[in-house]
Amino acid sequence: MHSWNGCAPGAWFPAGELMPGFGDLLILNGYTAAAAPLIGSAVAAGAARVAEGRAWDLSRSRCSRCGRAIKAIEMVPVVSWLALRGRCRGCAAGISVAYPVTELAAVAVALWAWFAVPGNIFFATCLFGWMLLALSAIDIRTRRLPDVLTAPLAATGLLTAMLIEPDRLADHVIGAVCGYLGFVLVEHAYRHFRQRDGLGRGDAKLLGAIGAWVGWAALPSVVLLSAGGAIIFLLARSRFGGKSLTRDTAIAFGPFLAAAGWLVWNHGPLIFWAEV
Ligand SMILES: [Zn+2]
Repeated sequence: MHSWNGCAPGAWFPAGELMPGFGDLLILNGYTAAAAPLIGSAVAAGAARVAEGRAWDLSRSRCSRCGRAIKAIEMVPVVSWLALRGRCRGCAAGISVAYPVTELAAVAVALWAWFAVPGNIFFATCLFGWMLLALSAIDIRTRRLPDVLTAPLAATGLLTAMLIEPDRLADHVIGAVCGYLGFVLVEHAYRHFRQRDGLGRGDAKLLGAIGAWVGWAALPSVVLLSAGGAIIFLLARSRFGGKSLTRDTAIAFGPFLAAAGWLVWNHGPLIFWAEV
């Protein structure tokens, strides 16, 4: 038996097992999975708008060059982009490959969750993954992690903990606080010793929000995985991408935190991986 009985639901139950008596849940989960490509579209369009400094509202999408309103038929996830060969119908301006990539990533989140977590937390897990995806898409484009997304991420994390393990809610509250304060401390230490900014405050808020989902005991795994991922990425980029590694090399750290938080939520902290 494994000793970990903490905050990683994906690790509690056999993969994909549905709890008995959850017929309605299967319907909800079916709709959730079916909505994945559309969510991906909304995330891609929203990230583009935030990057251009516009509001993320429900108004009709327009070509950023000619201003032409995008028709519904041109917004079918992935298919439209391929059919248009990545060009605006009006002015032939290139449509970023970020659109189909984000749409596919949203589908991948739902597929991953379907096999990794039990049915009663499939919806919450998709929500978690899609918010992480939105934050990553925005961070890559703007180097920002807006509060308008990190705050709901933290809130839904605590809400989910309240619903699925109310007796351990304190672990998740402590996770949120420790994640945030831990990175604020690193941010100050870095500024003190290196005389410049390393981590942004958005990274601290994101780690806090992830802490609300996975609980404090899983935070070290999130930090280790994200830092390891970022280091491997930087080394690979300097080796194969021709971008040399200097003291001033900076990258968006949000996507690495997001990926680490996703892995730990679905599969448990590192100590659990070693024991299985
Ligand atoms: Zn256009």
